[in-house]
Amino acid sequence: MRVLVSGASIAGPAVAYWLSRHGFAVTVVEQAPALRPGGQAIDVRGVALEVVERMGLMPRVQAVKTRMRGMTMYDREGTEEWSSTEMTMSAGRLDSPDVELLREDLCAFLHEATRDQVDYVFGDSVTAVEPDGRVEFERGRPAVYDLVIGADGLHSTVRRLVFGPERDFLHSLRARLAIFSAPNFLGLDNWQVWQRDGLRGYCVYPVRDNAEVRVIGGFEAGPEEHLERVDAGGLKQLVADRFAGFGGHTAEMLTAMWSADDLYSDVMAQVRMPAWTSGRVALVGDAACCPSPITGQGTSLALVGAYVLGTELGRSGGDPGPAFAAYERRMRPFVDANQALARPDRQPDDSALDLAKNAITL
Ligand SMILES: Cc1cc2nc3c(=O)[nH]c(=O)nc-3n(C[C@H](O)[C@H](O)[C@H](O)COP(=O)(O)OP(=O)(O)OC[C@H]3O[C@@H](n4cnc5c(N)ncnc54)[C@H](O)[C@@H]3O)c2cc1C
Repeated sequence: MRVLVSGASIAGPAVAYWLSRHGFAVTVVEQAPALRPGGQAIDVRGVALEVVERMGLMPRVQAVKTRMRGMTMYDREGTEEWSSTEMTMSAGRLDSPDVELLREDLCAFLHEATRDQVDYVFGDSVTAVEPDGRVEFERGRPAVYDLVIGADGLHSTVRRLVFGPERDFLHSLRARLAIFSAPNFLGLDNWQVWQRDGLRGYCVYPVRDNAEVRVIGGFEAGPEEHLERVDAGGLKQLVADRFAGFGGHTAEMLTAMWSADDLYSDVMAQVRMPAWTSGRVALVGDAACCPSPITGQGTSLALVGAYVLGTELGRSGGDPGPAFAAYERRMRPFVDANQALARPDRQPDDSALDLAKNAITL
């Protein structure tokens, strides 16, 4: 059976892995000209660790995980509020088995684990998906697939083409995220620094053996801002405006931002859908159920969703009826529990997170 997967970040290569293991002929089409670099540290937690284990990727993931020793929180003026050697805001408790690693590393591992069995097409995008499985592309020739899987993220094209416009499913959390890389301008040694004032804040943390830092900023966005796309220059100005008046190391942070060439920014939003499947089409990862970066659970949902979808299709021999029904039934409580964690005003509570990250049996 021929399966087309749209998107080659986390969910796409992960579902391709399970499908190819079950004997499907998989093509992954990615809009970007190559695997997209960048992004901040992402978390793999709870049952998602078991998925990584079952893919045989745990030794590689463990080898590159972040090794933070703790963090310091500063107020708007740059005065220290508190420090901790037990947790960081990005990874949670440092004694937990959960793993934090760079998105681009996990993406590369998933690609390497699949590229010999899966056909990857970069620099193209789906433009039409017909009910009989005929798919049209921006550049490639039309082709017919038995199944089509949308793993193309928060602003999924497959979702728009098959399920309806983005505004029907995207729920803005009224905040925007901006992330970029920079040289280690604070000389940090496996230590995170945060500075915040209400809903505005940013974090600087070192990566790649302290050689560079990633900066992640978050701030309020208007209710309709999820519909707006802003160019890179406009985004930088937006970030500079939102952190005007912050003291401490903010001036250095903004100087680094103006030189950055990998600024990634998006609204913090959730994707909420009554169904993730229709006919021969299924959505997985952020395209289906983005919980928002506030929860830190997007990557775990993508890995677990890919595993459940891929193994259910394997079990049904590619018959989408029973496979999609099982996928929807098994994933729904897990997704609901994780989406409930998103509170723009604070980090998820530890005990709620512990329950949510394990709220499915593989
Ligand atoms: C460059 C980048 C940086 C990120 N940085 C962070 C971060 O710092 N913090 C965080 O919490 N989350 C970040 N994310 C999102 C995070 O990866 C996801 O929340 C999570 O891992 C789920 O992954 P996903 O594969 O479902 O979606 P995504 O990781 O969003 O991947 C979707 C993929 O689909 C591709 N795509 C989009 N449209 C099309 C199309 N029409 N045709 C073909 N391909 C398409 C995209 O280029 C991308 O590769 C980032 C995503 C990307 C792509």
